[in-house]
Amino acid sequence: MMRDSGGRKNVHEIRNIQDMIDNRQLIAHYQQIVSVSRKMVIGIEGLIRGVNPYTDRMIAPKRLFHTAEEKKVSLELDRACREEILKDFGRVYPRNPEKMLFLNLNAAVLEDSIGSGYLLDQVEKYNIPPSHIVIEVSEKHVMNDHTLKEFVDVYKKHGFLVALDDVGTGFSNMDRILLVKPDIIKIDYSLVNNIQNDFYKQGIFKSFVILANKIGALIIAEGVETEEEAIQVLRLGGHMIQGFYLSMPGVMQELDKLYENDRIDLLSKKFKEYMSLQYKQKRNEHKKLIQVVQQAIDRLTGLSSGDFDRALEELAAEHDEMECVYILDRTGIQLSSTICDKGGSDKRENRFFYSAQKGTDHSMEKYYYPLVSSKQKSYTTEPYVSLATGNLCITISAVFENREKNRCIFCADFTTDEDSYNIEVRSSGPHASTEVQSRIVNMIKEMNKDIFKDSLTGAFDRRYIKTRLPIDMKNYQPLSVILVDIDLFKKVNDTYGHLAGDLVLKEFVTLARQCLKNEESWIARYGGDEFLIVLDHADETAADIVGEKIRSACEEADVIYEDQVINFTISLGIHSASSPSSTVDELIGKADKNLYLAKKYGRNQSYANILR
Ligand code: GH3
Ligand code: MG
Repeated sequence: MMRDSGGRKNVHEIRNIQDMIDNRQLIAHYQQIVSVSRKMVIGIEGLIRGVNPYTDRMIAPKRLFHTAEEKKVSLELDRACREEILKDFGRVYPRNPEKMLFLNLNAAVLEDSIGSGYLLDQVEKYNIPPSHIVIEVSEKHVMNDHTLKEFVDVYKKHGFLVALDDVGTGFSNMDRILLVKPDIIKIDYSLVNNIQNDFYKQGIFKSFVILANKIGALIIAEGVETEEEAIQVLRLGGHMIQGFYLSMPGVMQELDKLYENDRIDLLSKKFKEYMSLQYKQKRNEHKKLIQVVQQAIDRLTGLSSGDFDRALEELAAEHDEMECVYILDRTGIQLSSTICDKGGSDKRENRFFYSAQKGTDHSMEKYYYPLVSSKQKSYTTEPYVSLATGNLCITISAVFENREKNRCIFCADFTTDEDSYNIEVRSSGPHASTEVQSRIVNMIKEMNKDIFKDSLTGAFDRRYIKTRLPIDMKNYQPLSVILVDIDLFKKVNDTYGHLAGDLVLKEFVTLARQCLKNEESWIARYGGDEFLIVLDHADETAADIVGEKIRSACEEADVIYEDQVINFTISLGIHSASSPSSTVDELIGKADKNLYLAKKYGRNQSYANILR
């Protein structure tokens, strides 16, 4: 009836919303927020619904707030809602003084709320310390970073906690989170929904957890509706959970039961079962690796040190799972070369990362000292980023005796995916809809910009390549990659010093960026003096043109370091892919071979698609 005609509708709704505010025709529902690790309900979120004065039926909050906005009474409505919730919470607070209240604040009234002191008066009236109130601001509606920051700072100063709500809905912006530094980040249900089946969502969720840990914030996953979702959220490091799986929102009637929840124990049990299964699988995998190491030691025992390199080469060639192998003497000094087998004799070694050479002292390393400081025969490290390959790896080290009966230590690096949630692109499956994909792709781009930066040059780092390139390969065809290596860079370091070398690296990135007009193009440091440039929507001809621009810009540039002019050139290997069939490694591998040719035939030039 209120929708019969435009004119009448307005009259009724004005009366409605005013009446509702004046007569408090509002009802608060509460939903629990749970910490599984602490096995308790941390607090409750107050959610307001309207009560239609004519029909006594509930009015959804969205409509309520929309109408208020139309009638320019948002602030009044917001204050009335808060009043209802604070009044309720004020009653239960003295009996449960450790619990928190999560209170929504309409972003439309954010500006008016800064410095008004109204909320402070309200909480004082009901004797609730601000430190027990989490103000939730929906980042969906706040367009102005500056206002948001000011708001957060002011309320934090008064002792309130501040949560950024609805994060991950597509408006997310890592810069904003870093700027605002909220105490709590509430991840939107759209990111949590079916997360157990979706690598994208897992990757994004994990990135939010990393970011939250970095700024000292806590993550709450909203809209958790199933056990599987809850387990994944916990596995990925989410700190708290909210959603139907644990509790439905309800009115505050049974005060004693307000903070009770019998699902928490069940979830905690299920989570342990899940993790222990995962652990068992990992342990079995680890056992296999230990066997491989044992076989290696059997073979190395009794050899003289001069035969180590040859034996290691054989081992690395036989075992794909071994990334690098090397042998130390009993004092931790490297006796053998580092052998990294990449499954092909034409692969140049150590182009990108610099593995340790004979004579390197490893005595400070995690894979060395446990073996000499205890009687342990073998040791497995935690996952770490390998200097030799740039991959996340574990090292298993084990003691053996050589022909001269000297104790030696065999070390093998194995790649691991533990703790790394690289976002993979799957070509099919229930979650590969283009709309969802492109939304998530955009979110990943935003997030990764802040997380995966090389600190010296400001270019993206190697991990970014792993995350982003598979996505670009799927989305942008044709796509070209250019692998760039600075020519005779060692000489720059030797002649002018390392700092001058650093400056050249930075200058290169600046020059390259100036030549990349397309917004979708990006540059990452691949390692040392090597960079990967990715040109989306660029075929071979376009890539050639960009490559030549960068090459000549570098050739012409004068880098000034302490009154000296440094000149440098670069070599480029270009590869264009017109179909998504190849893998990241193939794509880079082909560019790398072309780069090799560019170097071989005199440097300061590029080679393109010689090797298809
Ligand atoms: P080529 O033309 O064959 O590439 O010769 P090159 O001298 O450039 O040889 P290569 O690319 O193998 O050498 C890379 C050098 O880059 C070796 C390493 O000392 C130096 N390097 C790696 N990282 C950095 C860094 O962060 N700063 C500086 N100044 N030098 C670095
Ligand atoms: Mg070089």
